[in-house]
Amino acid sequence: MQALTLSHATRQCPTVSVARGSRMSKPSNYTKESVKAFASAVLQGFGCSKLETDVVASHLLDANLTGHDSHGIGMLPMYGEQVLDGNLVPDQAPRFLDTTGAISIVDAQRGFGHRMALLALDHAMRNVPEHRVAILALRNSGHVSRVGAYSEYCAAQGYVSMHMVNVVGHAPIVAPFGARESGISTNPISMAMPVDGRAEPLLDMATSTVAFGKVRVASNKGEKMPPGCLLDEQGLETLDPDPMALSRLGSLSAFGAHKGSGLGLFVELMAGALGSTDTVATMEHLPHGVINNMFSIIIDPTAFDSREAVAGRTHDFCQFIKSRAPAAGTQSVLLPGEPENLSRDQRTTSGIPLDVQTINQIVDIAVRFELQADTVRGLLESKRA
Ligand code: NAD
Repeated sequence: MQALTLSHATRQCPTVSVARGSRMSKPSNYTKESVKAFASAVLQGFGCSKLETDVVASHLLDANLTGHDSHGIGMLPMYGEQVLDGNLVPDQAPRFLDTTGAISIVDAQRGFGHRMALLALDHAMRNVPEHRVAILALRNSGHVSRVGAYSEYCAAQGYVSMHMVNVVGHAPIVAPFGARESGISTNPISMAMPVDGRAEPLLDMATSTVAFGKVRVASNKGEKMPPGCLLDEQGLETLDPDPMALSRLGSLSAFGAHKGSGLGLFVELMAGALGSTDTVATMEHLPHGVINNMFSIIIDPTAFDSREAVAGRTHDFCQFIKSRAPAAGTQSVLLPGEPENLSRDQRTTSGIPLDVQTINQIVDIAVRFELQADTVRGLLESKRA
């Protein structure tokens, strides 16, 4: 059988390369070691401890490896701005609030979400042996980034899980179905089944047609967005990512018309109205603010059947899906999570592509934390793939 490559993974909404001036320089590829060293230097400059630096840098690196550059090290400039504004707190300690039965509530106190979410999940999962299920409401967290990472974390411990995340702290950026202005945010949802400690399959998606970060990536690369992703300030379709990426003007569309819009609305309600104290309608709008609330459901499959039986049925069903005849123009049916695994393999070998604009933005924020531009840049440039 022919080996699958990433080109088989037709993403829902790929960007369209259109040269638009000086930003359009070809990205260079960097090794994962150099990307992690580069990100780690910047995070330590922000004031993160070695432990937190490792957790956050590993998360961002893996987002780049899985092909989600929107949630990789390109987030560092925004994190730096938030630290400077006092809206993101390095080395924060979470507050563990009430636990009622299987339900845990954790206030991240605006700590780095990548670490806060893992601490909160550890706390919640202590309930699983007694209740066979745990429900976590993580509130007031810094950006948790790639939500699939938390499905992977639960699957590694043998649990099925679902995570719904709303985004407050900035004005809404996604137009609900039927509206010409924004009312919700990109509200991602992720779920996975555990098979031998791996999350397979793993669905991890924004409920907007594309994540906001993909608009930033397109803008930095000088690319246009494909049709169907963006509305301008008048509610008319646009392909230009810059007003949204640079000034948050206009709206992203919800995926799947009224159905995706309805799902995004319920993610907002589960994570914001039920699990936390704010929806995007009520949370103050911070200058560079992104606060995530995450509502997680973690299930022990052995409450239903043996671990092996559930994993076996999951595996068999996935093989059934993969055996379906590919659609015209598609070489193979992929499962959710497969494009990310293929990308991980490919980028581990060939390196992670980073464009000049993104690198410059990261170096610029590092300098504002009194790091030496040449030193930080050198960590990346020394090991091109
Ligand atoms: P996407 O559209 O690239 O992928 C969505 C899902 O579709 C994934 O599970 C992927 O495996 C699957 N998929 C993609 N191509 C496929 C194919 N050809 N066949 C079968 N399945 C396929 O992802 P997205 O919606 O742009 O989201 C990107 C990331 O942004 C996610 O990791 C998400 O968690 C993250 N995000 C985070 C926040 C936040 O505030 N923390 C907000 C929004 C999005």
